[in-house]
Amino acid sequence: MNRNKPHRIVVIGAGFGGLNAALSLAKLKDAVQVTVIDRKNHHTFQPLLYQVATAGLSPGEIAAPIRWILGGRSNVEVLMEEVSGVDPDRRVVQIASREVPYDYLIVAAGASHAYFGHDEWEPLAPGLKTIEDALEIRRRVLLAFELAERQAVETGQQTELNFVVVGGGPTGVELAGTLAEISHHVLAHEFRKIDPATTHIILLEGGPRVLPAYSEDLSQSAKEQLQQLGVDVRISTMVTGVESGAIRVGETRLLAAVVLWAAGVAASPLGKKLGAPVDRAGRVLVQPDLSLPGHPEVFVIGDLAALKDADGKMLPGVAPVAIQEGEFVARTIARELKGKPRKNFHYFDKGSLATIGRAAAVAQFGKIHISGFLAWLSWLFIHIFFLIGFRNRIIVLIQWAWSYFTYERGARLITGSTDLPGWSDSHISVASPESTRREDTSHRVAV
Ligand SMILES: Cc1cc2nc3c(=O)[nH]c(=O)nc-3n(C[C@H](O)[C@H](O)[C@H](O)COP(=O)(O)OP(=O)(O)OC[C@H]3O[C@@H](n4cnc5c(N)ncnc54)[C@H](O)[C@@H]3O)c2cc1C
Repeated sequence: MNRNKPHRIVVIGAGFGGLNAALSLAKLKDAVQVTVIDRKNHHTFQPLLYQVATAGLSPGEIAAPIRWILGGRSNVEVLMEEVSGVDPDRRVVQIASREVPYDYLIVAAGASHAYFGHDEWEPLAPGLKTIEDALEIRRRVLLAFELAERQAVETGQQTELNFVVVGGGPTGVELAGTLAEISHHVLAHEFRKIDPATTHIILLEGGPRVLPAYSEDLSQSAKEQLQQLGVDVRISTMVTGVESGAIRVGETRLLAAVVLWAAGVAASPLGKKLGAPVDRAGRVLVQPDLSLPGHPEVFVIGDLAALKDADGKMLPGVAPVAIQEGEFVARTIARELKGKPRKNFHYFDKGSLATIGRAAAVAQFGKIHISGFLAWLSWLFIHIFFLIGFRNRIIVLIQWAWSYFTYERGARLITGSTDLPGWSDSHISVASPESTRREDTSHRVAV
């Protein structure tokens, strides 16, 4: 390493971890030259993706161009590229056109949803990770109502609409709760032949309770708040198959106009390519200073890293962990450049919040547990505070206040294809208005 030249630091991924690492490293001025590589041109505020998926917010309100966020830092450059591999021995990152050399590497490529070895379910049951995913979910949900109305006009009968959400973690819970709000309130008076309020929102959770990472009382409260919003919550229910227009639970086949996937986590495939041990989800088992075993110049952070806290519990895949790890790694590099020794990473847990729907949420701040409106208000203000860009904060606050009082959701656009998996295969049962809620046992058995 030439001491007169700035240290070359490559950051893979401009999510919560990578972006905060780059912002902190930028403060080292001439001592470092930072290259941020991301396959997208924007940073996505993932906690609000469900709002885009359910037509409450538009993509530009929860995402911001990476180049704009880092624009004022002259020692940071941004490359929109897909990283295909890393060679830690030669200290290079591989992108399509060339190799990018580094002195330090920070890998913050995140994680996505996993289909438990059934990748063929993905086109039938989209998960929620990117803006594209959110727009696809929005398309399917809104399209289902339109197709049901069209079918009702043509046949004179109301189609039975089931929306199934798989996975009772925070994403599944917020999706199910908001879908209930859309069906039962937002669209309630806009269709003439169908009654959107009769839509059946089903949340399937394989474990014994929703929000398993929260305390038992908050899980129970979340379940009750979901039920009050009109969600059919089914716990200890394992999905055994996803088909076009239906889902299987054991031997039972459940008709579903829309299936959404919010279960399972798979770390970025880049983790395995680093050559270090990974856990079952593909997360890299990092050293206590977040470095790669045998390569102190490589750090892995955020959802891609597996590290236990002082109590031996695995750190959760949440934004505050990624943010703190990004800042910590930048501090580690700064210390090392000054010849100081490394420290171990310690996560400072400020608490957890999960939103469920309109005025419904749970919050856990140490021994303080809150549910309902107060938890929802805390969730709302904390998320607006962390949203990137003053303009977005103001817009989101206004949008939320507006839809809270009017039940309106302003981004109800169907874009792209007008095909809905399963619909053209006539998998959707047609029920007379009086029998909409009745079980059609030839197709569907309650689970
Ligand atoms: C729907 C949803 C809701 C969530 N809600 C909350 C919440 O309410 N509170 C909370 O704390 N956490 C929440 N999380 C979790 C939180 O978003 C993650 O823990 C956090 O984003 C992890 O940060 P990260 O930097 O590790 O990865 P990410 O933020 O996922 O960023 C990874 C980045 O790497 C890029 N990338 C990946 N692979 C490559 C490649 N090969 N080449 C180039 N670039 C690549 C991606 O484009 C992305 O920009 C939620 C997550 C989701 C999906």
